Amino acid sequence: MSRGEFVYEGKAKRIYRTDEAGVFWMEFKDDATAMNGLKRGTIGDKGVVNAEVTRRVFQHLEANGVPTHLRGQVGERDLLVDGLEMLKLEVVMRNIAAGSLVKRLGLEEGRAFREPICELYLKDDDLGDPLINDDHALALGLASQAEIDQVKALGRRVNALLQGYFAAADLVLVDFKLEFGRRAGEIVLGDEVTPDTCRLWDRETRRKLDKDRFRQDLGGVEEAYQEVLRRLVAAHA
Ligand code: UDP
Repeated sequence: MSRGEFVYEGKAKRIYRTDEAGVFWMEFKDDATAMNGLKRGTIGDKGVVNAEVTRRVFQHLEANGVPTHLRGQVGERDLLVDGLEMLKLEVVMRNIAAGSLVKRLGLEEGRAFREPICELYLKDDDLGDPLINDDHALALGLASQAEIDQVKALGRRVNALLQGYFAAADLVLVDFKLEFGRRAGEIVLGDEVTPDTCRLWDRETRRKLDKDRFRQDLGGVEEAYQEVLRRLVAAHA
């Protein structure tokens, strides 16, 4: 399989065609952004870590019945994926209070919820990805009610699976973001699952091992990403 024509560049990835119709080459960049693009930088070898973490996580999800776009890995920072018709939605799952929710609801960071929280956001950079509900998603034609029900159910299932997957590496899955698309009428998990899109804390010390180190200028950003990959490799040989 070879890399073909360039298609699209996002904040963290570049997409190319391949010689197989409908299959795309996803290159993970070291570029990092936060605060809706206001803060920019690079995190050394982030792309390598994120490609490897996404491949491992998506293989684990597939093995447990969650359909994903992953086809395979073709380079240290390159995955092959099925092209999906992406929903203009982000699904966020939360187990512990952190980030925007702490501000919105006036919570103390680190408070564990009795039940996981599932939220929908409109994918729109100009609007800063606002929080929406099912009715907004339906009214805007982003998805059918059946599809909304499905992405929420998949969000909860992925959360349950990944809590265990990360716990085996002594990592607490605080919250994370998923993106879904359609493939031949079926809802499929796309995009990535990485320390860019998850909050992961050390079980013992609660040290942040994710993009919050970059967002909040905590230092040790590269080391945190490497640590997550190292632990996952050790826990899931
Ligand atoms: N997240 C993401 N992309 C976004 C917004 C959020 O990957 O555009 C992830 C983020 O890393 C965190 C979770 O979703 O793990 C919840 O993020 P939150 O709503 O707290 O927003 P933030 O505080 O990151 O702006």
